[in-house]
Amino acid sequence: MVSYRFLEFLTASLLASPGAAFVVPSSKQSSSLKAVAKKDSYAVTLLPGDGIGPEITAATKQVVQALATRCNFRIEWKEALIGGAAIDAKNDPFPQESLEQCLASDSVLLACIGGYKWDKNPRELRPETGLLKMRKEMGLFANLRPAKVLPQLIDASTLKREIVEGVDVMVVRELTGDVYFGTPKGIDIVNGQRVGYNNMIYSESEIDRIARVAGDVASKRGGKLCSVDKANVLDVSQLWRDVVTDVITKDFPDVQLSHMYVDNAAMQLIRWPKQFDTIVCGNIFGDILSDEASMLVGSLGMLPSASIGESGPGVFEPCHGSAPDIAGQDKANPLAMILSAAMMLQYDLDRPEEAALLEKAVEAALDAGVRTPDLKQENDGCKVVGCAEMGEIVAKLVAEIDVDIKV
Ligand code: NAD
Repeated sequence: MVSYRFLEFLTASLLASPGAAFVVPSSKQSSSLKAVAKKDSYAVTLLPGDGIGPEITAATKQVVQALATRCNFRIEWKEALIGGAAIDAKNDPFPQESLEQCLASDSVLLACIGGYKWDKNPRELRPETGLLKMRKEMGLFANLRPAKVLPQLIDASTLKREIVEGVDVMVVRELTGDVYFGTPKGIDIVNGQRVGYNNMIYSESEIDRIARVAGDVASKRGGKLCSVDKANVLDVSQLWRDVVTDVITKDFPDVQLSHMYVDNAAMQLIRWPKQFDTIVCGNIFGDILSDEASMLVGSLGMLPSASIGESGPGVFEPCHGSAPDIAGQDKANPLAMILSAAMMLQYDLDRPEEAALLEKAVEAALDAGVRTPDLKQENDGCKVVGCAEMGEIVAKLVAEIDVDIKV
């Protein structure tokens, strides 16, 4: 019975991802995060999605346009449908033409999807299904979630100032494997009772490629990488630890590698988050730890993310949802999407200096004392502005700010 199950899942895994599962890439292969080399003109697909999506997309586009004008490059924008908007127009949460357009672009900027209107739809006609389809079809196996505490917003965190001040953590999460996708899975009747099961599984090649992304990210940040697993209990984690150690020590000799069990990592992130620079983990541990890390920052409206594959365009999007409660009221905070555009410039378009300029402009706007309603604290002396005005302010700063950054 056990060996039959094993054979079943092995076959299913191989059939599910032919050419990917159990194929070990050369150990010399090194990760290159950028989708394209620096050039004068880029094609970027915009996916405004639902709820506040169109509002934050308009603000972000305005800001990136201002940046492109200042830095002498061009962006050809093309919009495509995803989520509820795509269901309404095409009866498909991620139509084939959207996929083709994304794949033909240099990069993809996504706002957010979802809303009450589609909540009762069958699974295949839910906005979230479009998101999963996009990630799968575009081969986006690595999710990058920075949690950077800006000095202007320290009081938005629920933790003490001395704990969060200066925190700058990047969580690199494997996105397409692990217990979420492993087979066999299901609920069976065994000895007269229901038994639920999933399979936590990683192949060497899957660990190898995410380790390379993490090594690359860490080497461009503070040079420290903490790999999180549960190797004291799980065989799959022991393989994870062995492969990560192999990849980093051989191919990223300048990166200082450490390992931590996931339960300890969850505690350390709250106890002393400044000890972390870059964290790499599997899908389920990363799901939980990236949310925990993001809450060090305190505000959902400030959290960008990137999902990237082995080649081709990545998808850059804020961590928040479509906020249907404030949609269409000009109350949304566009900064998470603007910071996602900065990640796009850094990781996909080979323009790290421009990414830094964009981040500086966001900080300058906060320094100038403007806040969207979600960021406003009592008695902070700041002025509340809407989504559109915040976009205008950041765009103006991007165009004019005097920064010591070579662009
Ligand atoms: P949400 O993130 O949309 O909203 C949670 C709370 O945060 C709300 O009060 C909202 O007003 C506020 N908020 C979120 N983003 C904000 C912003 N940029 N500016 C100001 N306030 C902001 O989460 P939810 O309410 O659980 O989900 C709403 C919909 O979004 C659901 O349909 C859900 O499935 C979807 N969703 C989509 C994504 C995505 O597109 N990646 C992620 C999460 C949830």
